[in-house]
Amino acid sequence: MGILDSFKKKIEEEKKEDAPAAKGKYEDACALCGQGGTDKKWMGQYWHKKCMRVAKKGARKMV
Ligand SMILES: [Zn+2]
Repeated sequence: MGILDSFKKKIEEEKKEDAPAAKGKYEDACALCGQGGTDKKWMGQYWHKKCMRVAKKGARKMV
């Protein structure tokens, strides 16, 4: 029983390491489209790669 318990613990720990953040993906909502699963953190907010590209273009236009 002791072996099984430690085995379960190990699996749980591996699941934690496999969290979205470890894959370079954030659970936080995108600053542009508001959807989760963002790829990058930029200007203190989270972005999808494509949304960040759009935002950068927009920012350039505003300046
Ligand atoms: Zn987005």
